[in-house]
Amino acid sequence: MAWDFQTEPEYQAKLDWARDFVREEIWPLETVFSELSQDQLDRVYAPLQERVKEQGLWAAHLDPELGGQGYGQVKLGLLHEILGTSPFAPNAFGCQAPDSGNSEILALAGTPEQKERWLEPLLAGDIKSAFSMTEPNAGADPTLLQTTAVRDGDAWVINGHKWFSSNASIADVLIVMAVTDPDARPHQRASMFIVPADTPGVNILRDVATMEHPQEEFGKLGGHAEILYEDVRVPADALLGAEGAGFLIAQHRLGPGRIHHCMRWLGVSSRAFDMLCERATYRYAFGSVLAEKQTVQNWIADSAAQMQAARLMTLHAAWRMDTEGAAAARTDISMIKFFGAQVLHDVIDRAVQLHGSLGYSTDLPLEAMYRFARAARRYDGPAEVHRLAVARLGLLGSAPPADEVPTEHVPTRRAAAREKVAEILETVTANDCWTPRASAPSPRRRPAS
Ligand SMILES: Cc1cc2nc3c(=O)[nH]c(=O)nc-3n(C[C@H](O)[C@H](O)[C@H](O)COP(=O)(O)OP(=O)(O)OC[C@H]3O[C@@H](n4cnc5c(N)ncnc54)[C@H](O)[C@@H]3O)c2cc1C
Repeated sequence: MAWDFQTEPEYQAKLDWARDFVREEIWPLETVFSELSQDQLDRVYAPLQERVKEQGLWAAHLDPELGGQGYGQVKLGLLHEILGTSPFAPNAFGCQAPDSGNSEILALAGTPEQKERWLEPLLAGDIKSAFSMTEPNAGADPTLLQTTAVRDGDAWVINGHKWFSSNASIADVLIVMAVTDPDARPHQRASMFIVPADTPGVNILRDVATMEHPQEEFGKLGGHAEILYEDVRVPADALLGAEGAGFLIAQHRLGPGRIHHCMRWLGVSSRAFDMLCERATYRYAFGSVLAEKQTVQNWIADSAAQMQAARLMTLHAAWRMDTEGAAAARTDISMIKFFGAQVLHDVIDRAVQLHGSLGYSTDLPLEAMYRFARAARRYDGPAEVHRLAVARLGLLGSAPPADEVPTEHVPTRRAAAREKVAEILETVTANDCWTPRASAPSPRRRPAS
């Protein structure tokens, strides 16, 4: 029997340290972020990152030989739950998206030279990266990508239009997905390229203002860039992995990344949940504090149950990935991706509601959490697409029943059961004068009064 919900004491001590550190050192940053330039922000982060490194929690997503800690997905998940409480925490721990996912694919598919040039400085926190796949006309279905990379002598020439490349406006390097063989099978058409951000022809047009960052602000952590790649010439060795392996590599990137997202969402949810409960204890209306209203109790109970369900599902997906591999955990990951995003939304929504006008105001972080939560149903695959994957698996073992009579149809099953036990029924009928239709009480049992 190997089911175990315990965290070993040494790792729990690290988690406890991380929780206090994030609460005391990172949460305050949220309130002054908008006053800091990217350069000032980097200077604020530098000593914090050193402290994380001293604790052995830096870049915990990678194996030790790559400069990480080799914790595996369950331990990482527990850490991400803590980091999720603040959008600024992952950066202090060297595991912020998209750098964490990019370092994973560089580790997976990079040549020794590519690792030395890009992975090592990325892990050290000396450079930043972006992942450039989505295009204005190709998102949920990336087989529709139009960006091309054409071989020209000993170089590749990239042309295309991307957007929502997170952090691209502050990145030193971009990992770009481009079609290298338009005639290949849909999932073998694209390849990945490592493109230094200062390569001529990489034109970063803007950071798209979003629900999360409504004011357009260029060149700052968390921006989502629109980019034109115009005759971008990179050497042949810029190809990451095999030609045509773009989708395969992307899948490796997305699996663990989604687990980390889901655990971070639980961190956000738990912070909103704490606010929900706090408000319920002191806000007085219609003769009692809000905690005494049944609707509010229902919200608290439902939130707690949903969060617990999402947490167990996510940790189970992480455990599966650790023990059986990424492919085995694929459907579990799709399940947590849409379920977790909905839980995140629901808990924040209740907290916003219970805080009345205050919840709608920027005096509390709830409205920012709410805007952040809306994107969770979209990035790394829209909820609808993940539901589709889960439903497909559910449908796999099902087939139409004979004559369209449901397999569980009780009258049909009853008739079959009578036939199966006909002999016994016959004996019973003969001895007790019992007929199947007459449901007389047993003579030995006293009828209910
Ligand atoms: C905050 C944020 C950060 C992001 N960061 C990055 C990044 O770093 N790099 C990058 O390359 N991309 C990034 N993206 C883009 C993200 O991956 C895409 O938004 C996502 O893949 C969906 O693509 P799309 O926006 O083009 O939507 P579309 O493909 O146009 O889909 C729109 C909607 O259509 C519906 N839909 C689609 N397919 C189906 C289906 N099969 N069944 C039912 N309904 C369906 C869904 O409701 C879906 O939301 C980011 C997006 C956000 C919001």
